[in-house]
Amino acid sequence: MSELEKEAQYALSIVYKKKLDKKEQDQIMFETIKYWKENINEGFLAYRKSVSSESSYANLDWEDAYPGTPWFNDHRGQKYLDLLGGYGIYNVGRRHPRVMEAVQSQLSKQALHSQELLDPLRSYCAHLLSLIAPRDEKRVLRKCFFTNSGTESVEACLKLAILSTGRKKILATINAFHGKTLGSLACTSKEKFRAPFIGVLCETCHVPYNNLFLLQQAFESAEGTGERFACFIVEPIQGEGGIHVATAEYLKGARKLCDQYGTMLIFDEVQSGMGRTGKWWACEHSDVCPDLMAIGKAFGGGIMPVGACIGTDKVWEKYVSDPFLITTTFGGNPLALSASIATINVILDEKLLESAEVRGSFFLSELKRLKEKYPLYLKEVRGKGMMIGIEFMTNQMGIEFSKRMFAKNILVAGTLANAQTIRIEPALTITMIDIHYAISICDTVLKDISLLRSKL
Ligand code: PLP
Repeated sequence: MSELEKEAQYALSIVYKKKLDKKEQDQIMFETIKYWKENINEGFLAYRKSVSSESSYANLDWEDAYPGTPWFNDHRGQKYLDLLGGYGIYNVGRRHPRVMEAVQSQLSKQALHSQELLDPLRSYCAHLLSLIAPRDEKRVLRKCFFTNSGTESVEACLKLAILSTGRKKILATINAFHGKTLGSLACTSKEKFRAPFIGVLCETCHVPYNNLFLLQQAFESAEGTGERFACFIVEPIQGEGGIHVATAEYLKGARKLCDQYGTMLIFDEVQSGMGRTGKWWACEHSDVCPDLMAIGKAFGGGIMPVGACIGTDKVWEKYVSDPFLITTTFGGNPLALSASIATINVILDEKLLESAEVRGSFFLSELKRLKEKYPLYLKEVRGKGMMIGIEFMTNQMGIEFSKRMFAKNILVAGTLANAQTIRIEPALTITMIDIHYAISICDTVLKDISLLRSKL
């Protein structure tokens, strides 16, 4: 047997392993770190601040603990309560039994499609999405393009906006995160992510978030120079930017300006959608309907990677006349959409919108109580439903908090902007018992941090 054959067989044997003995735990951890360094990116290891303290040790993601819950086990069999929720992918919990069942049933028939014949789940899922999508008296979002990820959903929204308006320039917000492929990266605002690629990014202007006056000025300037915007892309709640909630006044004003200047309004609901905030889409809290919406993350039920772009008939017009302008091989494949269809059913049957609202409000109010208790450390607690941010006074405090929470077997993390704001985005299936438990651990950790005061 060749060395390659041995290595290939060994890697496959890891897939089939269930419980690991001590020797296997150490070996798999050692090899994971080694190959990560050699074959992925050693730089990444240094950034995993909350979950690893030394380079020779790492907790490995290994298995979900109880189906449909936020609990998971690491490779040593230690249980963790996941309050991070995979950055918002586990709205129906980890491996929800009904999502699993749907995916397994589809897998037993067909995984991917021929690409040439019509695949039924695409039609059914698009139909379902059109039934839950926002709408107003002027607009019905009912045309769907399926993707494999959030960034691809954003790319599709941008292309459709450019196609339908014939304009090229994009308006986005400061602190926005829309992904890291070249189109979405142009809309993302963090300098660190964009700087090396400036010059090859789409032409984009960034305006401060939640500031209607400056938004209006941007539209007026564009009108004055003739460089009108194809679209204004905005998150109804900025996720990676630090959990900032847009006011209803801002979103309504944005809708009005977009209508006035013939610009497409794109809501990026990749993180805030699929029930996370207590409604299907965060924009529903403001009663504002966009022309296009990007969906991802939880749309695959925490099991399949899948996203979507949904828009109005009007936005779709040019794309209808040439449907090959935007295509994808894997986007919206039968396996992925079986998960999405099951996820929509679970959210409905288990009343997860209500859970997100009621339990999320309780979680938020308890965290606000802790803010009053630890005013020297916590600057602000904010959010909507189960999309909550805890802002510390400093970045270092946020890092210390997430490290100490992890040491007590609760996973939280900062945002891509920084660790100063720790985000809480658990499964919407989280129980009140788990929330009470999480709050008590937060309290203990904050108390411990307050004893370290001089060091932070
Ligand atoms: N849009 C928003 C609002 C996001 O939060 C993210 C990811 O965090 C994306 C887009 C990009 O999604 P993905 O990482 O699946 O490409």
